[in-house]
Amino acid sequence: MDVSRLPRDPGPAAWNRLLPEPSSPTTLDGVETADWLIIGAGFAGLAAARRLSVACRGDRITILDATRLAEGPAGRNSGFMIDLPHDLSSASYVSGLDADRARIDDNRRAIDFAEDMVASFGLTEEAFSRTGKINAAATSKGLKTNAAYAAHLNDLKEPYELLDTTAMRDLTGLDYYHGGLFTPGAAIIQPAMFVRGVATGLRSDRVTIYELSPVIKLERQGDWIATTERGRVTAPRVIMAVNGHINSFGFEAGRLMHVFTYASMTRALTSDEVVRLGGAQTWGVLPADPQGSTVRRISGQGGDRIVVRNRFTFDPSMEVSDERLSQIGRTHYRSFAARFPMLPDVDMEYRWGGRLCLSLNDVQVVREVDDGLFAACCQNGLGTVRGTLAGMLAADLATGVPSPALDRMLESDRPKRLPLEPLASLGANIRLRWGASRAGKEL
Ligand SMILES: Cc1cc2nc3c(=O)[nH]c(=O)nc-3n(C[C@H](O)[C@H](O)[C@H](O)COP(=O)(O)OP(=O)(O)OC[C@H]3O[C@@H](n4cnc5c(N)ncnc54)[C@H](O)[C@@H]3O)c2cc1C
Repeated sequence: MDVSRLPRDPGPAAWNRLLPEPSSPTTLDGVETADWLIIGAGFAGLAAARRLSVACRGDRITILDATRLAEGPAGRNSGFMIDLPHDLSSASYVSGLDADRARIDDNRRAIDFAEDMVASFGLTEEAFSRTGKINAAATSKGLKTNAAYAAHLNDLKEPYELLDTTAMRDLTGLDYYHGGLFTPGAAIIQPAMFVRGVATGLRSDRVTIYELSPVIKLERQGDWIATTERGRVTAPRVIMAVNGHINSFGFEAGRLMHVFTYASMTRALTSDEVVRLGGAQTWGVLPADPQGSTVRRISGQGGDRIVVRNRFTFDPSMEVSDERLSQIGRTHYRSFAARFPMLPDVDMEYRWGGRLCLSLNDVQVVREVDDGLFAACCQNGLGTVRGTLAGMLAADLATGVPSPALDRMLESDRPKRLPLEPLASLGANIRLRWGASRAGKEL
C-alpha cells in the first residue's frame, strides 16, 4: 500500500523547544532487516518497543518516525496521564459503572508501565510525576459538573477531595476558580522530556530509532517491507503506532474522527512576575467542562511559564491552516488574560496544534489488521495513557501474551462508521463550536 498522507504538525512543538537542541537525527539510509518494525515513535510506538524489548530479548527492533522525536502529537500535549474515565465527547467525562471500572484498571496499568520506564531509564520528576489531577470549576455549572463527577466516584468507590475557592487560590494564586475536584491517581509529564527520555533509554544495539524517516509504502512479500525515501526495512512483524494516520495506510476508512486541539505557552516569566503571580511553583488543572481550558504553571528547564490549551476542530484532511492557528491563539490569550490579570505584559511565545484521533463509540483500534501487521491506534484524545496501553497490548497480541485487558480490547466493537462528508465535518464542527460557546468562563 502507498501511504496517502504524511503527518503535518501545525506550529512549533513548544515543550521540545524548552530542552537542549537534540543531536543530529539518525535517518534510515539503506536497506536493513529487523525482527520487529514499529512505525511511529509516540506513546504507542515507544510502549510497544519497551514491551517487545523485555519480552523478546535478543530480537532486533527498528522504529521509524516521520518527524523528530517529540515533534509530533506525543510532544505537543498537555501532559496529563489520567487514570479515571475521561471521555472527551461526553458532557461529564464519564460512562457506565462497569465500563468505567474496566477503563480505570486499564489506564492504571498503562500509567504504572510508564512509571516503570521512568524508573528504569532514570527520568527526572520534571519528566514524570504522580501528582494526581484537579478538575477546576470557574462557574456554578462547572461546580455542578464536578459534583456529578464526585457522585460517580462515590459509586466507583474512588477517593477524591473537593477543594474550595481558598484552596484553589492557594494553589494557583488566582481568584478565578470557585472550586476543584482533586483525584490522586493521575500523573503529569513534560511530554517532550518524557518522550526523548524514554527513547534514549530504549536505544541499544537491539533497538534502533530512525527519525525523519516517513514510511511512504508498506507491502508484503513474505515479510513486510516498509519503504522510506532513502531506505527500506524488512521485518516479519510490524506494529503500526501512527494513531489517526492508520487511515493513510488504508485501514479503518470512514471510521475515525481527526480532531485538532490547540495550546499556547507564554515566554518565561521574570522573577517579579513570579512573585506577583504567587501560588505554587508548579500546578496543572483540567477544566470541569470538557470544552473548557486546561492550564499548567510550569517551572523547570525553560523557566517559569504558563500553558493554556483549549478548542477542538474536526479536520478530516488531518491538516490545519496557519490562519486557524492564529485565530485560536487569540482565544488562548483571552483565556490567559482572564485568569492572570496580574501578568498584563506577558505574551505567548509559542502556539501550536496537534492531532487527536477519536471514534464515535470511544473504542480503540488494537488488532491484527493483516497477517503479521498489528495496529495500536485511535487513542480517543487520551493518548498519553491509551496510546501507552495500545502499544503494550499490540505487543502482547503479537507475542501471544494473554490478559483480561487484551481480551477486553479484542472484544470491543470496531469504530462506528461516520456520516459521509461534508455532513460529518459540518455536524462535528457545529457541535464543537456550540460546546465552546457554552463553556463561558470555563474556556
Ligand atoms: C494540545 C494537545 C493537548 C493534549 N493533551 C493531552 C493530555 O493532557 N493527555 C493525553 O493523554 N493526551 C493529550 N493529547 C493527545 C495525545 O497527545 C495523543 O493522543 C497522543 O500523542 C497519541 O499517541 P500515539 O502514540 O498514539 O500517536 P502520536 O503521538 O501521534 O504518534 C504517532 C507517530 O507516528 C508518526 N507517523 C505517522 N505517520 C507516519 C509514517 N507514514 N511514517 C512514519 N511515522 C509516521 C508521527 O510522526 C507520530 O510521531 C493532547 C494533544 C494535543 C495536541
